[in-house]
Amino acid sequence: MEYATLVSFYERLDATTKRLEMTEILVELFRQTPPDEIKQIIYLTEGRIAPDYMGIELGLADKLAIRVLVQISGLGDQTVEASWKEKGDLGLVAETTIQEKRQAGLFAEAPLAVRHVFDNLMAIAQAAGEGSQQAKIDRLAELLRAAKPLEAKYIVRTVVGKMRLGVADMTIVDALAAAFATKEQRDAVERAYNVSSDLGDVASVLAARGIDGLADLHLKVGRPILSMLCERVPTLKEVFERLGGRCAFEYKYDGLRMQVHVTPDAVQIFSRRLENITSQFPEIVGAVRSAFTAKDGIIEGEGVPVDPNTGDILPFQVVSHRRGRKFDVDAVAAEFPVTLFLFDCLLKDGEDLTMRTYADRRQTLRTVITAGERVKFAHTVDTDQEPEAEKFFEEAIQLGCEGLVAKALDSVYEAGARGYRWVKIKRDYQAEMVDTVDLVVVGGLAGRGKRAGTWGALLMAAYDKPTDTFKTACKLGTGFTDEMLATFPGKFGPLRLEHRHARVDSAMEADAWFEPRFVLEVLGPEITLSPIHTAARGAVREGSGLAIRFPRFTGRWRDDKRPEDATTVEEILGMFRGQLKAVKG
Ligand code: ATP
Repeated sequence: MEYATLVSFYERLDATTKRLEMTEILVELFRQTPPDEIKQIIYLTEGRIAPDYMGIELGLADKLAIRVLVQISGLGDQTVEASWKEKGDLGLVAETTIQEKRQAGLFAEAPLAVRHVFDNLMAIAQAAGEGSQQAKIDRLAELLRAAKPLEAKYIVRTVVGKMRLGVADMTIVDALAAAFATKEQRDAVERAYNVSSDLGDVASVLAARGIDGLADLHLKVGRPILSMLCERVPTLKEVFERLGGRCAFEYKYDGLRMQVHVTPDAVQIFSRRLENITSQFPEIVGAVRSAFTAKDGIIEGEGVPVDPNTGDILPFQVVSHRRGRKFDVDAVAAEFPVTLFLFDCLLKDGEDLTMRTYADRRQTLRTVITAGERVKFAHTVDTDQEPEAEKFFEEAIQLGCEGLVAKALDSVYEAGARGYRWVKIKRDYQAEMVDTVDLVVVGGLAGRGKRAGTWGALLMAAYDKPTDTFKTACKLGTGFTDEMLATFPGKFGPLRLEHRHARVDSAMEADAWFEPRFVLEVLGPEITLSPIHTAARGAVREGSGLAIRFPRFTGRWRDDKRPEDATTVEEILGMFRGQLKAVKG
């Protein structure tokens, strides 16, 4: 396909904020894409060149892109920088720069192929070591010399990591299903994505072989699978009702979910966001290496920092400091080593176990691991007796856990699903609704007085899975330190949009709209009906949504969560109803 054709679709996508319209445009695009190119086209449309877990990222520095624009246009540094300041978007700067040069007849007219653009972007992302900066510059310059103005706009946006068409994974899943399957088969497409974590793979199989081909997309060691998640329930009684009697109770550790892939050559750890976090946890790599007794496998658990002196579970924060650290990991690992509490085994010796029951997988886990100091099995009790569960719950809390996770013994592993086969129960829900929610920053409200010049409050939203949108639930203005506030412009500035993001549903105006990216932990003592917020609007009362009352930032950035992993509207509704029950006794 010619890149100009793809760009014409981008222009249409860029011009709409309606999800349905986006899906229709994508369906049209996918139908006319040759099957052997659809993979690249999917990645490019999402502003990337590989699935997340591969860790191949573009994100060329703005300054470098400016250097290339200066070099190929012959314009001065200052002219290009000034145009950047004025437009706030390097893509637009590239578009006008190339336009001017073209008018001067300085560029070749041969069409650019998508494949060629993709290969060059890949080379830019992968260039490493000595001379790599020049290699990146040369590749980008070559592309821009061959590009027409609109093509240059999207090449530059892609290369600096700011594509932002608002096309989300689930929009692509919908469009793929509409293009290559039936409405009823949409869930099968989503499942294939959840298991493979690679929309490009799903698309190329669908385009080439149709829906039946997806059966061959199996779980593989080295390729992470989306985690199975839990719903909240307020009481133990409800746990038994939901899970149908006897079930497995486990401690709910407050740490970091870890999916560990083991082969004879390597141990790799993936986070719940499917990032490869192996290098941050050398102690876990070593411990799993010696504890694992099969040939290969995928095991799952929660990594929790433990005080080496007392053996006590420590707050999660001491682990979160490791994220993003490039050095010093060994020292930190010695100071606060992490213990991995394992609860699941998803693959053993090449065999996909996800369709087996939980009881069966747990049993298999015990055959592939020899527990030791750094790798243990999660504390667990199987029971249908409320007093026994209650006692176990109290024990978990005393040991520094958040509560319990209960699992249906006959449940299969539902990748990426949050349902009632696994449920969580925390002490907070039984007490007076002192609980945290994880909300996504979607907008900013300009600060006044001491906060002038930064964002005084943030507009926060919950994730609504059925519509794949973010619905507002509160304005957050407390819990921020002065130092933190000062970092906001730098942090949120790059995410700023001209208008409300296509996936944000808000009845409120913000002073600035942001791309949904950051997830913040918010303490919400109470949930109330609200005429202005859109979360669960109409679910309890016509015209009213639900809002978190007196919200306060806990200081914890949930960098381990994608925006789609934020607390859902459904959960907030569940909490609201639980709260009513508590009030009514
Ligand atoms: P919360 O914000 O309430 O901590 P969450 O939104 O991070 O929860 P949930 O799906 O609601 O995620 O809760 C499941 C998480 O709990 C898992 O992602 C995992 O990290 C953690 N966890 C701790 N112990 C267990 C366990 N025994 N089994 C499954 N998950 C566990």
